[in-house]
Amino acid sequence: MRKKIALPTYANDIVGEIKRFDERDTTFAVHDLYRYYGEQSALFNEYFSSHSDLRKFYELQDAKLNLGATGKNDAPMFAAQFWALRMVSMERFVEGDPALRKTKMDPTRASEKIKRIGKFLGADLIGIAALKQEWVYSHVGSTNGDQPGFNVRGTAIDLSTHTSAITIGIHMDYDLMQYSPHFPELLATARGYTSTAWVSIQLAAMLRQWGYSARAHHFGNYQVLPVPIAVDCGLGELSRAGYLLTKEFGLGLRLAVITTDMPIAYDVPVDIGVQSFCEQCELCARYCPSKAIPHGPKQEFNGVMKWKLDEKKCYSYWAVNQTDCGMCMSVCPWTKPPTLFHKTMSKFASIKGPHQRWMAWADDLVYHNAKPKMKAADFMDC
Ligand code: SF4
Ligand code: SF4
Repeated sequence: MRKKIALPTYANDIVGEIKRFDERDTTFAVHDLYRYYGEQSALFNEYFSSHSDLRKFYELQDAKLNLGATGKNDAPMFAAQFWALRMVSMERFVEGDPALRKTKMDPTRASEKIKRIGKFLGADLIGIAALKQEWVYSHVGSTNGDQPGFNVRGTAIDLSTHTSAITIGIHMDYDLMQYSPHFPELLATARGYTSTAWVSIQLAAMLRQWGYSARAHHFGNYQVLPVPIAVDCGLGELSRAGYLLTKEFGLGLRLAVITTDMPIAYDVPVDIGVQSFCEQCELCARYCPSKAIPHGPKQEFNGVMKWKLDEKKCYSYWAVNQTDCGMCMSVCPWTKPPTLFHKTMSKFASIKGPHQRWMAWADDLVYHNAKPKMKAADFMDC
């Protein structure tokens, strides 16, 4: 059941002020200090002088992390995807000047066109909402080491003139996800990120050619937090695993966002029953190899009661395993393939009740989540 609701389900969990997050504090941005700047740089020393507790941890992970290393002959496929992603992460691809003449369009028609074109370009899900400024990062953190074409680390972010956000989601390949935590799953992740990036830059460019300011935010160059924005846009709900959980694809979705000042009509958030299901399920927490996903009730983080993923634990497993793991996504009962059986069961899964615990248990039994699932992918050697 998909209930359209006035306020997103996380609104019930807001208990204090939500402060804008600094992208420099994300795991990837801190890792960049080792990867691009090094111990001799002023930026490195400035950051760790105020975060001395993190230095040992990141030093250890940096020495180990080599994502994709276990892919052997197939590792270049992963590298090629991220190479393409990095190309379209430059400022000139995500941002630009709008055309001088504005195309006048009824907001409802504009939304309809954007959503239809987004799907035509490859989006599996797309929704639109007002942009809340609390979901905009305060400062730029990930910049590929301030390479030419990228923003400079520490630049203050101002999207105050952007009133609207469009979220696109692209489904990750189900078969490759089943390999998690092994190398092929990493290809599903990379394909999801490159595909969302490609769609988002085209949509943002189209809005600019209609005469409006627009910026694409994708994995290689985010200035916003895509998950709560996707919830506002009605794509799904925030889950125990920390990802967006959708009725159509469970956790197996990658996101990009376009922010703009174009007047467009909004979608509404949805309640698909995730909060009560995740309360009873806990499969992702049980199978997480690094114990990064919490069991039990939500805890307060930055003004919101939520199940808070421990990114450092998750990241340390990536460094050991040389993949982005993905066990949480593959074991989630909602991520299973869209067979008639699953479509029928998902209707009951959305209804709050003790049967939700039983359904999670039955799913685990049917799919043997604990056993490695090594299906054949004929184009791969590993
Ligand atoms: S990706 Fe793996 S280590 Fe990270 S939270 Fe998910 S299951 Fe845990
Ligand atoms: S595995 Fe269970 S607890 Fe985790 S996100 Fe999916 S439904 Fe929620």
